[in-house]
Amino acid sequence: MKKIFKVLGTTIVLAVVGFSFTACPPDGPAGCTHQWELESVEEEPTCTEEGLGTRVCALCEEIDDNYILPTVEHDWGEWEITIEPTVSVEGEQTRICSVCGETDEGFIPVLQPTQGLLFTLKNNDTAYSVSRGTATATEVVIPAVHNGLPVTEIGSDGFSNSAMTSILIPDSVTYIGWGAFWGCTDLTNITIPNSVIGIGGYAFNGCTGLTSITIPASVTNIGGGAFAFCTGLTSITIPASVTNIGEGAFAFCTGLESITVDSGNTVYRSEGNCIIQISDNMLIAGCKNSVIPSGVTGIAFSAFNGCTGLTNITIPDSVTNIGGYAFKDCTGLTSIIIPDSVTYIGWGAFQDCTGLTSITIPDSVTSIGSSAFSGCTGLTNITIPDSVTSIGGQAFYRCTGLTSVTLGTITEDNFGTNYAFPGNLREVYFADGGGAGTYTTTNPGWTPTWTKQE
Ligand SMILES: [Zn+2]
Ligand SMILES: [Zn+2]
Repeated sequence: MKKIFKVLGTTIVLAVVGFSFTACPPDGPAGCTHQWELESVEEEPTCTEEGLGTRVCALCEEIDDNYILPTVEHDWGEWEITIEPTVSVEGEQTRICSVCGETDEGFIPVLQPTQGLLFTLKNNDTAYSVSRGTATATEVVIPAVHNGLPVTEIGSDGFSNSAMTSILIPDSVTYIGWGAFWGCTDLTNITIPNSVIGIGGYAFNGCTGLTSITIPASVTNIGGGAFAFCTGLTSITIPASVTNIGEGAFAFCTGLESITVDSGNTVYRSEGNCIIQISDNMLIAGCKNSVIPSGVTGIAFSAFNGCTGLTNITIPDSVTNIGGYAFKDCTGLTSIIIPDSVTYIGWGAFQDCTGLTSITIPDSVTSIGSSAFSGCTGLTNITIPDSVTSIGGQAFYRCTGLTSVTLGTITEDNFGTNYAFPGNLREVYFADGGGAGTYTTTNPGWTPTWTKQE
């Protein structure tokens, strides 16, 4: 019998069945076991309280009406991540029992680096730069260390035009290279670690899926065009640490509504949703909600480039210089009054502002840069005051709506090329009977024929 118990010992039910012919009173023979079956439950057990039930023996029909039902498992909710794991630090998560409210905590293992990444030695073989290599993952994880050396840089062009949706950058990285994420339109999730000092030019150019980005307080340099064409961004905050913002860093960020500079920044400040360089009051970048504060001395290169939502802007009379591409492609502008403090209108300053139907150039302006109003197809007439002594090449090229142009005295050397205006205006101006005056055409377009009004 002992042998049988050994064989069947782990299967009590079989053992019971084996002796089912035996009655099982409490004083029955050894080996007689009640075969209890649960009859009813008086109190359901929970994860903290035992329950109470009644059970009946199927063999002898003895009733046990004080059967203690053991506590049951917690009814855990979903895990919630409290600390995201990185490549070097475990994450943490918690879940809560819906019955007793007990909190359960768990670790999330460190993330495994993406396979196929390409590592390139740099800094005299003391560190690595990383780029995509043959990796095809859409959720990219960059390791902090590779072959025993720190990974300190996202390589130039390293992940450009790839289909990834997220990237985890470890805090060993100090520099994000030129064009590193250029054209990553699916990229929606990126955290720039607060080890990064420099963001290269065009690093995030065209990352249209980004709806927010936090520039950490470690960054000192934001390269030119770094966030250009990030049309999903609605706000940007420049931390106190930033000492250089490149040209057009936020050009064509058509969704941008709010620009803020940390008040602790000693190089830049923000006012009226504009970034202003403190040393010379130059406006560096604006957005569609910008109001240019009085006291600004110049509009920097590309400051409003591609700001299509800008419909109305007043340039205060403290501004002397409108930089190159300052308002290029601001197609929402219908009119602009240039104040009589401005002396220079830069290269391409209002290029392709196709909505402009009216522009006033004051007699303080001495120079109109190349392509300054090129492609402003809505302009029908323009008066260039006597003060202007230089008109750059293609300044009004492609202004196919022009029917009337008034010019002061300009020397041949300072009258751009034949493409400063469409058609033969320059030729007629320097011909006998030309010079200062108003010129009109009855066939506006690419090759109008101009006649001087008497
Ligand atoms: Zn029994
Ligand atoms: Zn519980």
